[in-house]
Amino acid sequence: MIKKVDTFYASGQICHCCGYKNEETKDLKVREWICPKCYSKHDRDVNASINILMQGILAN
Ligand SMILES: [Zn+2]
Repeated sequence: MIKKVDTFYASGQICHCCGYKNEETKDLKVREWICPKCYSKHDRDVNASINILMQGILAN
């Protein structure tokens, strides 16, 4: 099954642990970042993938 995920969804900017939106990661050069709220370390692409996956599950 294919699920369509909104391309405007800022998946790479949102901490998948606490939901904090980090505006600094809008810069695509930022590959890794640490959430200032819960201190989780994120790889941009991994974090984005988890968020897209979660959104796909929640939209089900
Ligand atoms: Zn966080």
